[in-house]
Amino acid sequence: MEYQCSDCPRRCGALRTDVRGSGYCRAPALPHVIRATAHFGEEPCISGSRGAGTVFFTGCSLRCVFCQNHKISRAVSGIALSADALCDLMLHLQDTGVHNIELVTPTHYTRVIAEALSKAELSIPVVWNSSGYELPETLRLLDGLVQVYMPDLKYLHAGTSGRYSSAPDYPEAVVPAIDEMFRQRGNYRVDDQGILQSGVLIRHLILPGNIEESRDVIDLVADRFPKGSVLFSLMSQYTPMGSSKAFPELSRTVSSEENEALLHYLHQRGLDDGFWQEPSAAGTESIPSFDGTGLDFSRHPRNNDLGIHHGNDITIHIQNHQQEVES
Ligand code: SF4
Repeated sequence: MEYQCSDCPRRCGALRTDVRGSGYCRAPALPHVIRATAHFGEEPCISGSRGAGTVFFTGCSLRCVFCQNHKISRAVSGIALSADALCDLMLHLQDTGVHNIELVTPTHYTRVIAEALSKAELSIPVVWNSSGYELPETLRLLDGLVQVYMPDLKYLHAGTSGRYSSAPDYPEAVVPAIDEMFRQRGNYRVDDQGILQSGVLIRHLILPGNIEESRDVIDLVADRFPKGSVLFSLMSQYTPMGSSKAFPELSRTVSSEENEALLHYLHQRGLDDGFWQEPSAAGTESIPSFDGTGLDFSRHPRNNDLGIHHGNDITIHIQNHQQEVES
């Protein structure tokens, strides 16, 4: 595969081949994966009791300064997978008994992922865990292949998205992207175990000192989506890390006062379907090892096109836990 890429709102036009990428995301065309195994760090409706079958991709088209996964988002590392190999990986994960196949930071690999999903014909939901910085026309490649969209809604102020993600157009990109996700899946649906089977779960990470923007995010979701149509997750786990040290205002966690004010506003606006966190969710307790776990394809027949690339000693902090508001 070789093409000039305009797959995300950056619209770099960069040449991407199977093994080389020169765009903002630095990603070749073939997806690079660093970890693929059961994961218990997501919302209860995603992780459940058996875990999400989570595939962590490397590289990113957004690269926020505070990214928890900065060691794998700032550079491409891990194992390159063809569509066939990714298909095998997802089928193997499904066989382990996980609730779903969760694809983390997948946007810059949408083309090959869509091809893999169309071959896999999975019997469990596919969860698209993305930054929300996406194009509707690219998301349309996933129509009928992804059952659950879990986008971030990080910013609605261009100044903030420009400062922390070099993407002043994030607010104008994310809203049509989420609209397209909702167009595809409609109102959310859970099974009798409370596991999300279809729909959209919108996540918002509170940044310290930035609760006015968080209020605007809550307003947008409450105004745009009828009650009972989407799930909303208000996240308080922000932990200074990555390049955030260069931004003094990001040097602390979210305070209890900020969290309580936003929880109060969440209820005031009637966003009761979803999840919230205590600020104590911040920290380093839950750390997946980005060491290639789950990527042993030795017993899979179509593994000839796999290639080990650099960097398999990565450790990163992930979210701790989340609590249900109401279901
Ligand atoms: S996916 Fe990567 S190469 Fe393509 S437009 Fe976005 S940043 Fe550029």
